[in-house]
Amino acid sequence: MSEPLVIVGNGMAAARLVDELAKVALGRYAIAVIGDEPRLAYNRVLLSSVLAGETASHDIELRPAAWWRDRGVTLKYGCVATEIDVGRRELKIANEESIGFSRLVLATGSTPLRLNVSGADLAGVHTFRDSRDVDLLLTLAAQKKRVVVVGGGLLGLEAAYGLAKAGTPVTLIHLMDRLMERQLDAPAAELLKSLVERKGIRVMLGANTARVLGETRVEGIELTDGRRIDADAVIFAAGIRPNIALAKDAGIPVNRGIVVDDHLQTGAPDIFALGECAEHRGICYGLVEPAYEQGRVLARYLAGGAAAYQGSVVATNLKVSGVSVFSAGDFMVADGCEAIVLSDVRHGTYKKLVVSDGRLTGAVLVGDVGDALWYLELIRDREPIAGIRPDMMFGRSLSIRSEAA
Ligand SMILES: Cc1cc2nc3c(=O)[nH]c(=O)nc-3n(C[C@H](O)[C@H](O)[C@H](O)COP(=O)(O)OP(=O)(O)OC[C@H]3O[C@@H](n4cnc5c(N)ncnc54)[C@H](O)[C@@H]3O)c2cc1C
Repeated sequence: MSEPLVIVGNGMAAARLVDELAKVALGRYAIAVIGDEPRLAYNRVLLSSVLAGETASHDIELRPAAWWRDRGVTLKYGCVATEIDVGRRELKIANEESIGFSRLVLATGSTPLRLNVSGADLAGVHTFRDSRDVDLLLTLAAQKKRVVVVGGGLLGLEAAYGLAKAGTPVTLIHLMDRLMERQLDAPAAELLKSLVERKGIRVMLGANTARVLGETRVEGIELTDGRRIDADAVIFAAGIRPNIALAKDAGIPVNRGIVVDDHLQTGAPDIFALGECAEHRGICYGLVEPAYEQGRVLARYLAGGAAAYQGSVVATNLKVSGVSVFSAGDFMVADGCEAIVLSDVRHGTYKKLVVSDGRLTGAVLVGDVGDALWYLELIRDREPIAGIRPDMMFGRSLSIRSEAA
C-alpha cells in the first residue's frame, strides 16, 4: 500500500518535487498537496510578465489539473495548514479534519517584508508575491495611480517595470547606492539604472524610507533626509522572510529558515523542507533553481536512494525591467583575483569575468547574456581556463575555435 506523503505549500518547489517523485517512485506514495493559494501551482517567476501584460495569468500554470490527477495527487488548494502534531504524525488544516502522514514535506516559501515604519499598514500599501498581488497592481496600473516602489532588487525592478509599461508614473527608491547590489557590481548597476530610467522609471538611490504618509490611505513617502514623494500607492519590495511558523510552533529547529541537512531532513523524523522556507548550511536561497535542485535530491532520497544536496552555485539569469542581467559566483574582485572587463555603455553592454587561480570564479553580464550558461558551467566545473582565456570574453564559439587552433 502507498505511504501517505503530505506536502504543505503548492508552489514551485512542491510542483517540482511531485514531478521528480513521479519519475523515481511512482506509486510508492499517496501524495496530498495542501496549498493556501486559491489556484493550481503556477510559475511565480512569470508574475512579472503577467504584470507587464506580456503573459496571461492562466498561461503560467505549471501543470494542468489532469497532470496532478494522473499522478494520483490529492490537491487541496485554498487550504491553510495550521499545525503539525509531530508525535501523532498529523497535519491540521483550517476548517477541516486533520490529515495523517508517514512523511511530511514543508514547501511553504516566503512572505514579503513590510518595512517597520509608520504608515506601513495604510490602505494603498501593497507587496508583490502572488497572483492576488498582481491583480491589485494591475488595477492600480489601469487607474494610472502614482506609485512608489520601495526596493531596488529584482522584485522592485520588476514591479516598477510592469507598472511603468502600463503607463503608471513610477518612482523606485532604493536604500543602497546601487541597484541589485547583491547581484551586480557598481558599473553593471549604473548601466542597469540608465537602461531602467530609459523605460520612464524615476530611480532614487540612497533613499531611506522614514514613513508612509497619509491618514487612512497612502498619500506619499517621506525619506529620512526629509524629502517627500507624492504617491497614491506604495509597493514594498524590500526583502522576503521564509515561512517558518508552522515548523517553529511544532518544535522543529529553525533559524532564519527551517534547518535541513543534506537530505533536506529537518530536525524531526520524516519531516523535510525545501525551497525558500528551508535553510541548508546556513543559506536560505531566494531563487527557483536551488529549489529545483533540492526537489531532485529529495525525490531520490524519498525513493530510497542515497542522494545528498551539497548546496547550489547561485546564479541570477533574468530579464530585469526588460534588460537581460546575469551574475554568478564571486563577482566582486577579491584580493588575488583578476577582472577581465568589456564595457560598451552606448550599446547597453557590460561584461565582467573574474578569474582566480587560473579558473573562472565569477561573472556579471548586462545586455548581452548569450553566453551566460557557458560561463556558469565554467564556474561550476572549475576547469582551468588558460587555453581559452584570450577569447573567453567574446563567447563560447570563438573561445573553442581559438583553443582548437
Ligand atoms: C514576482 C517574482 C519574480 C521572481 N523572479 C524570479 C526569477 O527571475 N528567478 C528566480 O530564480 N526566482 C524568482 N523569484 C523567486 C521564485 O519565485 C521563488 O524562489 C520560488 O517560487 C520558490 O518556490 P517555493 O515553492 O519555495 O515557494 P513558493 O513558490 O512561494 O510556494 C510556497 C507556497 O506555499 C504556500 N503556503 C505557505 N504557507 C502555507 C500553509 N501554512 N498552508 C498552505 N500553504 C502554504 C504559499 O501560499 C505558496 O503558494 C521571483 C519571485 C517573484 C514573487
